[in-house]
Amino acid sequence: MTLLLSRTQPERVSCTATVLQSGTDEKGHYFITAETVFYPQGGGQMSDVGSVMHNGHSFAVKQVLMIAGEARHYLADVTGELEQGAEVRLEIDTAFRQRASIAHTAGHLISHVVETLMPSLIPAKGHHFLPGSYVEFSGNSTLSAEQLLEQVREKVQQAIDDNLPVSTGTLSFEVIARLRPELACAIPQNEEIRTVTIGDYLPFACGGTHAASTGALQGLELRKIKVKERMKISYEIA
Ligand SMILES: [Zn+2]
Repeated sequence: MTLLLSRTQPERVSCTATVLQSGTDEKGHYFITAETVFYPQGGGQMSDVGSVMHNGHSFAVKQVLMIAGEARHYLADVTGELEQGAEVRLEIDTAFRQRASIAHTAGHLISHVVETLMPSLIPAKGHHFLPGSYVEFSGNSTLSAEQLLEQVREKVQQAIDDNLPVSTGTLSFEVIARLRPELACAIPQNEEIRTVTIGDYLPFACGGTHAASTGALQGLELRKIKVKERMKISYEIA
């Protein structure tokens, strides 16, 4: 089980570690360490990219995926140096992390605004990749899609201008299920679940990385709304 420093110390950009295992799968050559500063792709958020240093050499890490509880760091080029026992220094691309965190936080903010304006819409999916971010909702809106989008745009911009704080914490499943019964089926029944809270909005179960406050989301543009089986709002960060 890889310890993810991004959960408890999201401000960390580097760490030292020992390679526990290396190998190759269909995604390429990878290595595993006991702990990592890299955020592995998940929860709709992009994987961090960055580098691994060993014996004065730096190698690019192109993607990190969580597989069976272990974070596989995929290398851009095959290197035989990162074998079991190698002492390495892991470092993330901080500009990339910041953009990934902003895109991810934007997904939360849009969801909060939508569910507050229209409680019959339930957050169903978030995809916070750049480009191509979107959030999806199940349920029906009593407003037309375009009317809803207009109101959401206005409220989202207001929240950005208000520079609401974004904080993380932990709550038990029981508490989250009481606060958000509509989402209880989508979260694990654990004693401690990491949560993110934006301003006065309800906490949301999430293991991702976030902007410190909504002021960082200036440049967020809600592109369009589409209604099929679900309602989908696409967005991007200018
Ligand atoms: Zn989150």
